[in-house]
Amino acid sequence: MQSADGDEASPEPAAGAEALCLAHIHDPFLHRRLRAAASPGVCTFGHASKAQRLVVPVRLLARTVLAALSDRRSDAAGEWEHDDADKAPANPAEVMGQACRTALDAEVLKSVRDHLDRQYWDGYRVPFVPRAGLLRYSWDSFCRTVVERELDLPGDDQPPGSDRDRLAALMGRIAGTIREAGLIGTIEQGERIWRGRMRPDRTSPGYRAGDIGAAPPDRAAENRMSRAGVPLFYGSADIATAVAEISARDERRPYAAVAAFEVTRPIRIIDLVDIPGLPSLFDHEQAARHDSLVFLQDFAKDLSRPVFYDGRKHRDYRPTQYLTDHFRQSTELNVEGIRFRSAHNGGVNYALFVDADQCLEPDAAEGEGTLRLIKGSESVHDLDRSHVTQAV
Ligand SMILES: [Zn+2]
Repeated sequence: MQSADGDEASPEPAAGAEALCLAHIHDPFLHRRLRAAASPGVCTFGHASKAQRLVVPVRLLARTVLAALSDRRSDAAGEWEHDDADKAPANPAEVMGQACRTALDAEVLKSVRDHLDRQYWDGYRVPFVPRAGLLRYSWDSFCRTVVERELDLPGDDQPPGSDRDRLAALMGRIAGTIREAGLIGTIEQGERIWRGRMRPDRTSPGYRAGDIGAAPPDRAAENRMSRAGVPLFYGSADIATAVAEISARDERRPYAAVAAFEVTRPIRIIDLVDIPGLPSLFDHEQAARHDSLVFLQDFAKDLSRPVFYDGRKHRDYRPTQYLTDHFRQSTELNVEGIRFRSAHNGGVNYALFVDADQCLEPDAAEGEGTLRLIKGSESVHDLDRSHVTQAV
């Protein structure tokens, strides 16, 4: 092979002896970490000239990444086991390939994987247990576990090593990250939350809080975030989002009636609207925070998916119901709801742990309510023409 400047390219380097310059590393943390270990040499990857650069051996890169992704706890237990799960130990080359897709240039990543594969096939098994958050605590694995085993919330019965014990540990970690990452917010007194229903015509329904507030337990249907019989108040921060949320469910009725509730006291909530940026996947000190934030991002994505026409069975709501139930019951978090983004228009939605008694009529005497229907806030929207046809 001729290199661009006409020199004969060097012969293939010995296995594991390739070296890369820092320009091929795109994760800032990994870049800093390896820069400290780099020394002048020739980069094997994609340069016309043979000029000396700061380089690190591919095998050092492999070792550094695997150390960051490995579980260093003495009680590392591996992934939740599923019946059809591959029982083979984690293949380091596979984990490396998934973890480094954006952190390394493709050519370098292939070389690292080849290096690890050679070690694997040479019989030198790299002792490697991926850190818990990468696999066992991932959202997908959590969903499978909750659905397949029909698990209830962690309670008193948590033998060490049991599924419920693991779930309790996961929930503790998630709650810790919610507080540390500043994901607790407040809906202030006076803020408006919109609710709506689809309608067959453009007449104003004249909603009362009893009509459009949270359903009483005997009428509370199963939903993505609540089991049947568990009241939950869904709402949106503006009319457009409220209409977008309900219109996706019902295409036969072309009108949407909406009305606003006013928040009568500050409500403490988990705020998943703007989850902060992730620390580097390769920063082992930040591993719990990284993995918990990814878990919460996936949860928020699941909440945002269109509700009724996504082809999933209600049974599959169990994971989101489970997590929401946990947040509702957590004395550590002490919240009364969740704020999350709508997938329909990027607007803001709420799920509040508020029952029918807390949804006051406009003219109700001051009481123990949390939300009060705002007189005159009702309007009917024609979805075909997207404008208000009648307001009261
Ligand atoms: Zn290079």
